Amino acid sequence: MILNRWQDDDARAMQDAAGTDPAARELALRVYTSRIIGQDPDLVMHGGGNTSMKQVLTDLYGDPMPVIHIKGSGWDLGSIAAAGLPAVRMDALLRLRSLPALSDEDMVNIQRAALIDSTGPNPSVETLLHAWLPQKYVDHTHATPFLALADLPEVEAATREIFGNRLALVPYIMPGFALAKEAAEVFEENPDCEGLLLINHGHFAWGPDAKSSYDRLVAQTNEVEAWLADRRPAPLYPVAALPEADLASLLPVLRGAMGAHLPAGTALPVFDLRATDAARAFLARPDVADLATRGVATPDHVIRTKGHPLVLTRAVIAAGAEAVRAEVDAFVARYAAYFDRQAPRFGGAKTRLAPTPGLVWIEGAGVMGVGHDAAAARIAADIGEQTIRVMIDAQAAGRFAPIGEADMFDCEYWSLEQAKLGRGTPPAFRGQVVLITGGAGAIGRATAQAFRARGAQVFLVDRDPEALAAALAMLGPDQGGLACDITAEGAAAAAVAACVRRFGGLDVLVANAGAAMQGAVATLSDDVLRASFELNFFAHHHFAQAAVAVFRAQAGARGAGAGAASGQILLNISKQAVNPGKGFAAYGLPKAASLFLLRQLALELGAEGIRVNGINADRIRSGLLTGDMIASRAAARKVDEATYMAGNLLGREVEARHVADAFVMLAMAERTTAHVMTVDGGNIEAALR
Ligand SMILES: [Zn+2]
Repeated sequence: MILNRWQDDDARAMQDAAGTDPAARELALRVYTSRIIGQDPDLVMHGGGNTSMKQVLTDLYGDPMPVIHIKGSGWDLGSIAAAGLPAVRMDALLRLRSLPALSDEDMVNIQRAALIDSTGPNPSVETLLHAWLPQKYVDHTHATPFLALADLPEVEAATREIFGNRLALVPYIMPGFALAKEAAEVFEENPDCEGLLLINHGHFAWGPDAKSSYDRLVAQTNEVEAWLADRRPAPLYPVAALPEADLASLLPVLRGAMGAHLPAGTALPVFDLRATDAARAFLARPDVADLATRGVATPDHVIRTKGHPLVLTRAVIAAGAEAVRAEVDAFVARYAAYFDRQAPRFGGAKTRLAPTPGLVWIEGAGVMGVGHDAAAARIAADIGEQTIRVMIDAQAAGRFAPIGEADMFDCEYWSLEQAKLGRGTPPAFRGQVVLITGGAGAIGRATAQAFRARGAQVFLVDRDPEALAAALAMLGPDQGGLACDITAEGAAAAAVAACVRRFGGLDVLVANAGAAMQGAVATLSDDVLRASFELNFFAHHHFAQAAVAVFRAQAGARGAGAGAASGQILLNISKQAVNPGKGFAAYGLPKAASLFLLRQLALELGAEGIRVNGINADRIRSGLLTGDMIASRAAARKVDEATYMAGNLLGREVEARHVADAFVMLAMAERTTAHVMTVDGGNIEAALR
C-alpha cells in the first residue's frame, strides 16, 4: 500500500518558509506534495512523473496573468524546489490547442518562450496535458500498481471494475501534443471523472487544492493495489542463489563481452546487481523467457533499460565464458535487427544507439542494471526491479501486455533524445572502475577524489571501517568499499571480488596502502620485517595478481583489437626504495622489492596492454607522517614545521592531492609503463637515474 505522507505541520512549515506572498505560499504547497509524491518509489521513479498548479500572478503592468507551474526537466520530484516548477503563461499554452499538429521541437520552443522567467528549466513534455485539464492541481505518476493495470489487455474492463466511471481511459499515444489533445477530449467527454488512466503509460489525478489532489492520487493508487493484491500469487519458495564465486567470474566476462560491441576505446559498462529473494523467485518462473520479450512497463523506461533484458540462465552461466559471450552477441544481433526493422520509417534520420543490454536477468542471482556509469546502472536496476513487480501483478490479473515494438522504437529514438547524442565530451574516466587500497588514508582519499572528479567509479579498501565510511560519505553516492585487513590470507582476492560484485569489474588498481615500520637494520627483528613485507610488498603483489585475473577475463571476452586499454596497476612505492633513510630498513626493503615488482609486472604484462606504473612520494602529511612525527623531526633539524615540510628543491610542501594528481596523470599516459614518477618537490638524492 502507498502511505499517505501528508503532514499538516510539514505543509505549514513549507508555506511559512516561503514568506508572506500568497502566490509563493500556494507554490510552496505544490512543492511539498510534489516532494512527498516523488519520495515514494512506488509512485514515481527517476523522472517518471510530473506535477502542476495553476494560479493567477500579476505582471509588471499590474495586470492579472494566469500561469501554470509545471515540473521542469532535469528536476527530481522527490527533492524539487520552487525553481523546479517554473511558471508558464497559460494563454500561450491554451491557444496551442487550436493547431492540428505540433512537432516536439516546436512544442519545446513555444513552451520555453512562454516561461515567465527566461532562465527557468524546460517545462515538461507533458505540460500541455496538464495545462488543458481545468483543475488547479494536477498530479501525474507512473505508479507501480497503475502500470500493472495500464498494461493489461483488458484494461478497460478492469478499470470499470475498480473505479466504475470515476476514471476515464486515454488510449496509448506517445507523450507530446497529440496525447495532450486526446486526454483533454477524453476529459471533456467525461467531465465528472476524478482521474485519467493512460493506457500503457500511467495515471493522472487532480483536485482544487494540494491536499485533495494528493489524497486522491494516493487513494486511487491504493484502490488498484488492493485489486491486484487479491490476485497476486504467493511468492515462490526461496530459490537457491548462484554462488558468489560464480558471479565473480561471470561479471567481468559479461562486461568484456558487452565491450566487444562498443566503439574501440570506450570504457566497459558498469553494472548494478540486485540479488534479492524476490528477483531470484521471479527468475525461477516458468514463463520468464517469454516475459523477457514483452517490453517496457511505461514508454520512458526504454531510454534507461532498452526494450528487453538479456537473460542468462544457470545453464549458460555453467557453460562458461564462450556461452555467455554468445548470449551477448545474440542480444546485439536481435537489437540490430529491431533497429533495421523500425528505423526505415524515419528515412536515414535515426542514429543507432549502443546495441548492448540495459538490463540483465541472471537466473539464481537477480536483476542487474547496466550503464555507462554507476548512476545510470543504478537507475536501470531500480526500473528493472519495479518492472518485475509490474509483470508479476499484470500476469496474475490477466497478462502483461505493454506497448509494441514500433511505439517502443518511437520513444527510444525520440527526436528530442536523439538531439542530445554527441553533445559534450564524457569525463576521461567515465565508466572506469578504480580500486584503491588504503583508500581512507590521506593519499587514498585524495586519489579517490581525483579519479572521481574525472568520472571514475571508486572502490575503497581500508582497514578502518569508520574512516572508510567517512571517506565514502565524502565521495557521494554510487561508490563502493570494503573494510578489511589486506595482509590477511585471501584478503586481496576477496576485496577484488567485492569490487567486481559492486561494479562488474575493475580497470585500475591503485595499490596504495602502506605503513613505515622502523628499527636499526643490525638489530631489526624478523617479526617486524616480515609484518612490513606482508603490508608493503605481499599485499601489493596479491592485489596485482587478483586484478590481473579480472583484467584478463574482461579482455578475453572483449576480444582482440578492441583498442581499449585492458587494465592498469599503479603502485605507491616510496623514495625509500632508492634512497634509504637510517632506521627505515623495515620499510625500505619491501618498498625496494615493490619497485622491482613494478618492473617485473610491466615486463610480463605489457604485451596484453596492461600498464604498470608507480609513484615515489616523500614527506606527505598522512598516517605515515603524523603531526607528532613532523614536530619531532623539525625539532631535530632545528627548523619550524613549515620549513621542514617545505624542505625540497621547490621549497613548497607536497600534499596528498599532488600525489593523487600524479596517479591520475600516470593513468592517462597511454604509452607509459614501467615508469616511476617522483612526487617530492625535488630531492636530488632520491632522483631516479
Ligand atoms: Zn508520463
